[in-house]
Amino acid sequence: MSRLIRAVIDTHALRHNLSIIRARAGSARVMAVVKANAYGHGLVPTALALAQADAFAVARLEEGLALRAAGITRPIVLLEGVFTVAQLQEAAHHGLELVVHDALQIELLEQLRGTQRLVLWIKIDTGMNRLGFPTTEFAAALERVRRLTPAPLEIRLLTHLACANERDEGMTQAQLARFRQATRALGYAVSIANSAGLFGTVRLGCDWVRPGLALYGACPFADCSATDLGLKPVMTLATSVIAVRRVARGESVGYGGAWVATRDSLIAIIAAGYGDGLHRSLAGGTPVLVDGERAPLAGRVSMDMMAVDVSGLREVHVGTPAVLWGPGLSVDEVARHAGTIPYELLCSVSQRVPLEPR
Ligand SMILES: *Cc1c(COP(=O)(O)O)cnc(C)c1O
Repeated sequence: MSRLIRAVIDTHALRHNLSIIRARAGSARVMAVVKANAYGHGLVPTALALAQADAFAVARLEEGLALRAAGITRPIVLLEGVFTVAQLQEAAHHGLELVVHDALQIELLEQLRGTQRLVLWIKIDTGMNRLGFPTTEFAAALERVRRLTPAPLEIRLLTHLACANERDEGMTQAQLARFRQATRALGYAVSIANSAGLFGTVRLGCDWVRPGLALYGACPFADCSATDLGLKPVMTLATSVIAVRRVARGESVGYGGAWVATRDSLIAIIAAGYGDGLHRSLAGGTPVLVDGERAPLAGRVSMDMMAVDVSGLREVHVGTPAVLWGPGLSVDEVARHAGTIPYELLCSVSQRVPLEPR
């Protein structure tokens, strides 16, 4: 029987990647970033597979609560913190650690009544200009946080890098210098590196690293591969051929007749489309693995299907397996054909695609 699209999750690869990250991180502790459904890999199963991580990080309260509901007792950091007193109470009740990036969040903490002592991560904006206290406002924010009652269980400091994935180190060095200047001699634990910061060339010197993408075996850099970093792909987006047809030279395939056969061709229709999260911006020629061999996408991605020119392959029939990305065809490479980044492709895998642990 042919099997339709599914995302096979290799939990061994996940743990392998964590061990590579640990080796790279030296004595720093590892906060595994599992926001956005663990970059499409399934929030709870991913966190369970990464039970050896020192902490987890998510973007939103709901994600943290889902981890707690699944019985995960490790520290969990809310990277955007909370925005209402109710959220703060809920987070405190479940022992979630909070990023504090704005004076409004300090006000919420000042209003919190009770005995719960929280781990607070104060975020400093060193140039990303997204979240965090500008370096000029950081000292005052820190002072207010120090004066909270009950006192924080622990204060830690973080910043986020804007250009760590670029080989030009200028911005990263500037951000690092600002961070060091602002936090000098304070003695708090600090966190700077995302995946690119961790595998990049600038020595960041963190107590905690915050990898996301690298855990999933994808590469944050354009000029090298995840394999070069020792990482293994975790997700295999697998499907199969649901129809095969001969297309005579001069005939077109798919919406808009966007692909025209320049010779008599064999076209395989595979069950994968933008309804599954495959971007319609995937260009003709994007490689697909059909029975383990590369074949080019022919024409436009439709909602439930895409066409692949398998003229060069032997023995393609209904049920022949096809892989959109996984071992042998990296999501990084596929993302380039869609004019996007692996993050977006992984996060786009839609709800109707079942996740299957392997
Ligand atoms: C998402 C995120 C990370 C992880 O980034 P990767 O590039 O996936 O490693 C780290 N820190 C913060 C604040 C984030 O939002």
